[in-house]
Amino acid sequence: MSVKPYLRVALPVPLHHAYDYRLGEQFRNVNILPGSRVCVPFGRHANRIGVVLGASDKSAVAAGRLKSINQLLDEEPLFSPEHLKLLHWAADYYHHPIGEVLFSAMPALLRQGRLVGSVAKDAFRLSATASEADAIALARAPAQRALLQLLRDHPHGLTRQQLRRIQPRYSQPLKVLLDKGLVALTQPHRPEPVSGQHGAVVLNEAQLRAVQAIAETAAAPRVYVLQGVTGSGKTEVYIEAVRRVIARRRQALILVPEIGLTAQFIERLKNSLAVDVRVQHSALNESERLRNWLAARDGTAPVVLGARSAVWTPLKHPGIYVVDEEHDSSYKQDSGFRYSAKDIAVVRAKFDRTAVALGSATPALETVYNLRRGKYARLCLPDRATGASPPAIHFVNLRHEPAPDALARPLLTRIAATLEQNNQVLLFLNRRGYAPVILCRACGWYAECERCSVKMTWHKELDRLICHHCDARRAMPEKCPECGHAQLKQVGHGTQRLQRALTARFPQARILRVDRDSVRRKGSMEQIIKAVTAGEVDILVGTQMIAKGYHFPRLTLVGIIDADSGLLSADFRAVERMAQLLVQVGGRAGRAAQPGAVLIQTHFPDHPLLQTLVREGYDRFCDMMLAERREARLPPYSYHALLAAEAAKPQAAGQFLRAARAQLEKCNAARLEVFGPVAAPIEKRKGYYRSQLLVQSGNRQTLRQALSPWRQQLELMPVAGRVRWFLDIDPQDML
Ligand code: ADP
Ligand code: ZN
Ligand code: ZN
Repeated sequence: MSVKPYLRVALPVPLHHAYDYRLGEQFRNVNILPGSRVCVPFGRHANRIGVVLGASDKSAVAAGRLKSINQLLDEEPLFSPEHLKLLHWAADYYHHPIGEVLFSAMPALLRQGRLVGSVAKDAFRLSATASEADAIALARAPAQRALLQLLRDHPHGLTRQQLRRIQPRYSQPLKVLLDKGLVALTQPHRPEPVSGQHGAVVLNEAQLRAVQAIAETAAAPRVYVLQGVTGSGKTEVYIEAVRRVIARRRQALILVPEIGLTAQFIERLKNSLAVDVRVQHSALNESERLRNWLAARDGTAPVVLGARSAVWTPLKHPGIYVVDEEHDSSYKQDSGFRYSAKDIAVVRAKFDRTAVALGSATPALETVYNLRRGKYARLCLPDRATGASPPAIHFVNLRHEPAPDALARPLLTRIAATLEQNNQVLLFLNRRGYAPVILCRACGWYAECERCSVKMTWHKELDRLICHHCDARRAMPEKCPECGHAQLKQVGHGTQRLQRALTARFPQARILRVDRDSVRRKGSMEQIIKAVTAGEVDILVGTQMIAKGYHFPRLTLVGIIDADSGLLSADFRAVERMAQLLVQVGGRAGRAAQPGAVLIQTHFPDHPLLQTLVREGYDRFCDMMLAERREARLPPYSYHALLAAEAAKPQAAGQFLRAARAQLEKCNAARLEVFGPVAAPIEKRKGYYRSQLLVQSGNRQTLRQALSPWRQQLELMPVAGRVRWFLDIDPQDML
């Protein structure tokens, strides 16, 4: 075997290129493949972990200056060529350093250099189908036969460590036997999965059509958008599609917005699919995470479920990708490596030639646009699966109805009637804390965070003013620090204040508040849901944490306390998000036998977008929104890249961005539109002054091609060293 003398190694550093290393004498006969981890000297570090990207015959660096690798950590590459291709694609698309991309796709223990063989505690046993005959048939594969015999002698299974001790070269034959289905995975320390089609339902026609399209897509892989209101049976479609895919010995990767909020969903999935569902949960310890990751990579875990970062889980036999609540903004990572997990899932499915199902009652406008262009295929679940009718929606005009405690009379009347009937009420207010503004009536002073340009929220329970951006806390001043006026006014309503007002009005009602503060104190979301489901709660007050797809059979009234913030926001996506939230929260009402109602409190009941949404539905609303976006040439009719910068000195970020803009214009043959630099809407955050420059193009390719050389030039600019800056591709949050 002739081995090339140089390796290109990616390191987890914020630089875009890989580094060349020499192969020392000890590796002369080892073929080190791309995707393997190595230890190399780097800078002041004697040993840093890197990932091999390739080998070459020559290096641009003079041979005398090249260092050699110290150690090879993986006998077999950690990443398959297919997975490496995906990670290279992502590094390129998001203009993020390949080393950081590779490392963010690894569980922490692998980043720290843990050897795969030493931590993979999964045990292996003979599969139910393995027989004597199989062993005989393996006469010409002695290593496999020996392994089979070994496992026959250990019916409870052996871990990798145990196998290694007895049969050091177990790894390759084990792989083959797993592929043949003669060896199966067993998890000695975990309960066996619940078997049987627990509570199985008979799918209706629309569901069946959806399942068939998604699961039998092998010939023509596509992006499917499963659009159905909450309660229309999307989850049942995922379950059945996944069941069919794993029956073909392929794997499923399911993404959910937030694990902590989807306990019900996971429970159903586990109960219905009588297989091992690996949940990549933030509460798992690191070795469990690694074990799940390896089981997915080796093809032994049929179903992997997780939030955003689980999209990087390698799959040996990919069969289907599911993205639940695909419109959810948590799929976009908003720091460091700023990828969109939904987009990555779509790209993976394309690379793997498998299906991806994007499920939502309210698909993102980008998704709707792709449907209308015929790029994605729509699967509709038009009705609620249980036959419940959609809720009646009413506006409460806050211009005519006083709402002293954020509760106008029509809403109060409805709440009273609902409680009377022994039903449940959900009140949605997306603002935690007691009062969002503390104001001096005499001089107009208000409490602002010292490190951020945002108002501080009064948290009565903690007796503190809290900044919701940096969590800075301080005491409420006794009098106005500006003019000494004795009375500071608490303006506006957060969930705590609303809860208090409700308690005063409905002293008999059992009221539960659900927001980040209360959940932190009361334990898990799971318990809260249990309590509501068991009927131990009459009124539920909460933020978007309660908007997700729960089933509360006795919930018949939903009140939207304030629909205006979305209509008034500076963010062009705010209206879309508000509409999604309204449909989502409204979908909680009247899920079972009882019809539901939704009351929306607003100062703008005649707003054309609100009216269209409520009278004609989400699709017609999207038509209007798309027309507006087209007019304004905003996404999805254009593509955005945001160059953002921040610095402790007020002017530095703007200076850098002006230089960056000049640089782009110098070489901008591509007719990109450039806006800014402007101060970010939240101008100061955590003590840093922030500015941004928006680059836009009607053509994604044009934008992409212009960004690479620009980014390289930015790195060389002297002013770049004085600020923190990053490029955000397809930015979602520009505040
Ligand atoms: P979604 O995920 O769209 O909110 P679910 O899949 O959770 O909807 O279904 C809502 C409710 O309807 C669940 O209680 C589910 O068990 C039930 N359901 C779904 N499909 C059917 C069906 N075909 N027949 C009867 N009940 C169904
Ligand atoms: Zn004052
Ligand atoms: Zn702050």
